[in-house]
Amino acid sequence: MRQVEQRWYIRTPIQEGEVFSSWLIRSALDLGCSPLTLVNLLWKKWRGLTIDIDRGLSEEKLDVLLKHCFINKHEVQETMLSSYFPALIPINYNKNQRIPWILALGIRNRSNVSGRQICTQCLSFTHTPPYLRIKWRMGWHSGCDIHKTILIDHCPQCRITLQPTKVDIEHGSLAICTSCYADLSTFIQRPVDVDALRFQHQADQVLESQLGQYNQKNISSTEWFEIARTWLSFIRSPLNMKSPNLLQMFESFNIDLNIDYPITPVAFEFLSVQEREKLLSILNKIMALPCDLIVERSLEYRVSRSYFWDKRKKLPLQLQLMKEKMLKPSKIVLPKDNAIAMGKPKSKKSVQRKWLRLLRKLQKGGTSDFSSIAP
Ligand SMILES: [Zn+2]
Ligand SMILES: [Zn+2]
Repeated sequence: MRQVEQRWYIRTPIQEGEVFSSWLIRSALDLGCSPLTLVNLLWKKWRGLTIDIDRGLSEEKLDVLLKHCFINKHEVQETMLSSYFPALIPINYNKNQRIPWILALGIRNRSNVSGRQICTQCLSFTHTPPYLRIKWRMGWHSGCDIHKTILIDHCPQCRITLQPTKVDIEHGSLAICTSCYADLSTFIQRPVDVDALRFQHQADQVLESQLGQYNQKNISSTEWFEIARTWLSFIRSPLNMKSPNLLQMFESFNIDLNIDYPITPVAFEFLSVQEREKLLSILNKIMALPCDLIVERSLEYRVSRSYFWDKRKKLPLQLQLMKEKMLKPSKIVLPKDNAIAMGKPKSKKSVQRKWLRLLRKLQKGGTSDFSSIAP
């Protein structure tokens, strides 16, 4: 007798701009089961919620999912970060590596130590269920473009990192903190930095159009994001703090390169939302400067090119051309004799001779007790 395949369907619609994991969790809750059960029903032993599932599904896993929902393939793919990779990274980039600009979750089992940020007020909309936006996974997002407030990556009540993939039946919604059960949608945050929000808006447009503009030239989105990332590494460089001239040069642009608190020494994609907000605020101002003006001021303030990235770093073309127009670092040249004297260790004979000369000098000076200074 032919076995009748048992059919069940996900009926939860995808919300506008929703990220895949959010839809999957909401679908499970709508079905009345744990998200772990749903993942198990779909993909057997594959533990999708213990990895960054939002990066994308294999064709095979996607096909299995599509058999159990009424949503078309394209719509599901749009909830995945992989659909944004072409605008962010070059074609030959190894996609198994960390993707620049995509916030890293740092996952251990179902816990993530970073990378999930939300706007509390966006979770409180009455016409939509609380859901997570795909844009909140982008590193250039530190604020909400609707509410103009800073995003949060920690629960305001218990301070634990937000871990929505741990949301289960007992929480009932993505607005609930999985640790202390606080309703996150009830908290209101401080306004976000204006410049950080401006950069965010610009980066969103570049991502969408796959085109950017830098130094009054039209460039591809991958190049634009690479230039922005390179300037970020400049802002974070400890070299900046060593040159008063460099700080003054940027002050002349009304840009303060000083950051009040130390930025955690990890990749940008692991930083907290407040740290990224500060860096993005400075970045927005720097990205607006024409390269020729930067060169001009660097000559005026006698700032050498060595302060602009390590010479081993491969720079995007426009930044490389800019750097080449700057002053070469001046070297401290030692006089030739001195250089030789410093370079070679002295012979044993000459050291002994000097030692004896020193002893004689001490003797003349009236010191008779040599035992205290003799080797
Ligand atoms: Zn919001
Ligand atoms: Zn909490």
